[in-house]
Amino acid sequence: MQNINDYNFNNKKALIRVDFNVPLNESLQITDDTRIRAAVPTIKKVLETGGSVVLMSHLGRPKSGPQDKFSLKHIVSRVAELTDAKVNFVDDCISDNAVAASKNLNNGEILLLENLRFYKHETAGDQNFSRQLAKHGDVYINDAFGTAHRAHASTAIIAEFFPSEKMFGYLIEKEIESVAKVLTEGKNPITAIVGGAKVSSKIIIIEKLMEKVDNIIIGGGMAYTFAKAMGGKTGNSLVEDDFIDTAKEVLAQAKAKNVSIIIPSDTVAADNFSNEANKQTCSTNDIPDGWMGLDIGEKAIKECTDCIKNSKTILWNGPMGVFEIESFQEGTKQIALSVVEATENGAFSLVGGGDSVAAVNKFNLATKVSHVSTGGGAMLEYLEGKELPGIKAIIG
Ligand code: AMP
Repeated sequence: MQNINDYNFNNKKALIRVDFNVPLNESLQITDDTRIRAAVPTIKKVLETGGSVVLMSHLGRPKSGPQDKFSLKHIVSRVAELTDAKVNFVDDCISDNAVAASKNLNNGEILLLENLRFYKHETAGDQNFSRQLAKHGDVYINDAFGTAHRAHASTAIIAEFFPSEKMFGYLIEKEIESVAKVLTEGKNPITAIVGGAKVSSKIIIIEKLMEKVDNIIIGGGMAYTFAKAMGGKTGNSLVEDDFIDTAKEVLAQAKAKNVSIIIPSDTVAADNFSNEANKQTCSTNDIPDGWMGLDIGEKAIKECTDCIKNSKTILWNGPMGVFEIESFQEGTKQIALSVVEATENGAFSLVGGGDSVAAVNKFNLATKVSHVSTGGGAMLEYLEGKELPGIKAIIG
């Protein structure tokens, strides 16, 4: 494995797996270019140090073969704008034509290949397809964290054709470093905020975090399974009855490990799941029949934000309530603001894996935390301690 900072790209063609899976509207215009922006430092590093760049990515979920609405040609001009470079495009990723286009590429130029997923071989991790793709570069860089948890041709299998000439791009490096700053080098007190809809999708991460952190704030729909496990009355709130025993075990384990678990003490309950619903604040342990908890209450906001502001390391995964609906966004917003305040006071904060990323974006706070992960599922699996194929393939 090589390091992008030390590598000499002069006269080299770098084949970079990026995640340009950006949202497009009906007129096929990009509505959020965050993922393209995130890859720019790696692309510029190669171009500015004498090399050329061949970019490969997927876009959307094409069913079988090419579909115009999933063509990467729609993003060529934005890539050119953001990189300040000439961007050539080729309408296939493995054809002779495509290989010729990369052979003819001049230093300082970019070639964008057509959507990898127009071939089913990509997601199948096909070795021959990987071999064909490998013809495009002298060196392979993986900078697509969002797909690092998949053993696809372009994210993992291809690395075997670059036994030593392979490396991470800056984006993946930053994701790996950020997790290390929480899980292995985190300064105490370390607080994990785990919210979102269900205990079932977060249980592995909670168990893993218990080994590392001082405090775990449980928010969102998950909190009501915990409240019920502690003997509370949860009305119509989201509760996973199958996970009540698991919640009890988590609480017992936390006690044994001296980890403080904060379950929001009060709740904003609603009589239906809409912005116009009637609301009342009640104890999380005593939600009236017919009412459901959709946000944390004022007392809970204070308990959680006090804990966050006292932390030196913060990991946030999952919102505190149904923040997509304005009436129930306050808890998540106040948590986001306290994470920002802690960061301004020197804490390290990582927001990743779950809808908390959408929440910090919604409140325009993404630039005010230490790192916002670009990989939802990949970040969740990485935090759970799983080996990601895209990372393993580079490390070797
Ligand atoms: P996740 O992807 O696991 O982070 O879950 C995010 C989803 O959880 C969001 O769409 C939220 O609207 C939802 N959510 C948060 N709090 C609640 C709640 N109290 N009841 C139902 N859904 C919730």
